[in-house]
Amino acid sequence: MARTDAIVLGAGIVGTSIALHLVKRGLSVAMVDRAGIGEQTSYGNSGVIEGSTILPPAFPQSLGGLFRAAFKRGSDANYHLSFLPKVAPWLWAFRNASRPDRLAETARLNRPLFAIAGAAHEALMAESDATRYLRKTGWLKLYRDDKSFQALQPEFDLAQEFGLPLQALDTAGVQALEPSLSPVFAHGVFWPKAASLSNPLAVTRAYARRFGQLGGLALTGDARTLHRSGKGWRVETNEGGVDSSNVVVALGPWAPDLLEPLGLRLPMAVKRGYHRHFRAKGNATLARPVVDVANGYLMTPMEQGIRLTTGAEFAARDAAPTPVQFDRLMPKARALFPLGDRADDKTWMGSRPCFPDQRPVIGRAPGQNGLWLALGHAHWGLTLGPSTGRLLADLIAGTTPFCDPQPYAAERFLR
Ligand SMILES: Cc1cc2nc3c(=O)[nH]c(=O)nc-3n(C[C@H](O)[C@H](O)[C@H](O)COP(=O)(O)OP(=O)(O)OC[C@H]3O[C@@H](n4cnc5c(N)ncnc54)[C@H](O)[C@@H]3O)c2cc1C
Repeated sequence: MARTDAIVLGAGIVGTSIALHLVKRGLSVAMVDRAGIGEQTSYGNSGVIEGSTILPPAFPQSLGGLFRAAFKRGSDANYHLSFLPKVAPWLWAFRNASRPDRLAETARLNRPLFAIAGAAHEALMAESDATRYLRKTGWLKLYRDDKSFQALQPEFDLAQEFGLPLQALDTAGVQALEPSLSPVFAHGVFWPKAASLSNPLAVTRAYARRFGQLGGLALTGDARTLHRSGKGWRVETNEGGVDSSNVVVALGPWAPDLLEPLGLRLPMAVKRGYHRHFRAKGNATLARPVVDVANGYLMTPMEQGIRLTTGAEFAARDAAPTPVQFDRLMPKARALFPLGDRADDKTWMGSRPCFPDQRPVIGRAPGQNGLWLALGHAHWGLTLGPSTGRLLADLIAGTTPFCDPQPYAAERFLR
């Protein structure tokens, strides 16, 4: 039986970053996962460290966009019909939070986390011997027509407000950065302050190694064994029970499995996504992530090959994978970049844990003394892991938080 100052449940990028920040404050910490470190959602993402994310993804506002989504005409979204009634209240709340004024408000509320995201990763990478996985080459968003490009003005205005540089490029300007892209798009926006990782799994593992070097304990166990014990909490692991008065829930899309039996029902849904790796044909190269906005997929150069990731799929977290979006996007992706053969033999699926207002929950669990929450990082968990780690470590250690934690409090759903 061990006793620690804190237990972190979940060893994805969010849990690992929190655990590392906590040991750096001199706390004794056990991090518990039932699987390998960083092997779930934090493994298969697009690898973008979105220091320049401004507006969150929106529910389709135009009739055309709704039609495309409803009739599965685009490759950007998919859904399981049988799941729609279950997710309808969430979709309705997401739709309301997608009004232009609400999106701008969300961007401002999330900004403090994004503003330090790049530097927070870089600092952890430097001490974890992981800097070699970091590419500070920005990212490129491509737009196929003038209308979608002209609609970006509100985002450009916010970028100016946040002091974020961007370059609006024509086809030739984009090709000067990425010569292997074919001119099937009309416009591009280059966000030079974004960065990307060539191997997100290796980075999470490196942070976990550093956590171990600083005295942290990485243990295998099922978080659902968590129960009250005396004045604190106990979780069972392969090494025996671990007690603590502080427990952090960083279980990503699996958080409801633990929280709902405790009576804490938060409106979290998942947007599932898939990836496949491809070789580049001939001498073709890609120096940075590229997103084809109209078709909702992203291409990122990774150590395993060019990783193609899909947009959102609304389906039950544990339903069988249905990677049909690849059928729709592959012709577009092949026309954009000379993709060769598959570089893997399996399609990966993961689930982005999302709240409808597109803010994570970071802070105390209402009504559960000593329980802390770090979940719902949606499209940006890789980016925001270290920022979340810093904020939660501030809150648990009782030091002045580096930003106002109020916008991320779970209480916003319980009023
Ligand atoms: C296709 C796709 C592309 C994405 N691209 C990006 C991107 O470019 N940039 C970005 O910033 N974000 C991106 N994301 C989002 C990002 O990957 C997630 O937000 C992030 O990985 C969530 O991290 P996490 O640590 O919360 O969850 P996870 O990485 O899922 O970690 C949760 C951990 O909890 C463990 N666990 C679950 N249940 C139990 C249990 N009962 N007992 C013990 N352990 C348990 C799991 O094994 C897992 O290790 C993408 C996501 C997807 C799906």
